[in-house]
Amino acid sequence: MNTDTKRFEEIHYDLAYHGESSDIHTQIIETISRLPKKVAKFAVENCCFISVGEAIYGIALPGRIGTKNTNLRRTTRNAWIIVLSENCNEKDIHSIIAHEIAHAWRKDDRLARPPEDCEIQTANLTRDWGFTGCGSDADYCNSF
Ligand SMILES: [Zn+2]
Repeated sequence: MNTDTKRFEEIHYDLAYHGESSDIHTQIIETISRLPKKVAKFAVENCCFISVGEAIYGIALPGRIGTKNTNLRRTTRNAWIIVLSENCNEKDIHSIIAHEIAHAWRKDDRLARPPEDCEIQTANLTRDWGFTGCGSDADYCNSF
């Protein structure tokens, strides 16, 4: 078994994905396998991925919104829910997934008040990780 296949299987085993798209599931695994090692570990351990049809491109939300009991807040302090569209094109999807992982990595809480330049910083970080596509394009990401 080659190292890529082994890495994919390890990520597949540990990944939290809730959704019905096997394409997105595979694309999340491919994206995580391309991240710097410490970011990949963070993504597998702290992020829960959800895909929701074709409603939005993606957003990273703090994990506390997924818990009923506010006493659980401590355990969700660095947990993230990453919501992904099932309608992204092939050339952009990995950069969009990496972009949302980057928001979580940076702890951009978009239910509160994230830094004003967070879209630019997040797109640049995604580009630094080696991704190309709209998720790594600062001008594009800052235009929303
Ligand atoms: Zn963003």
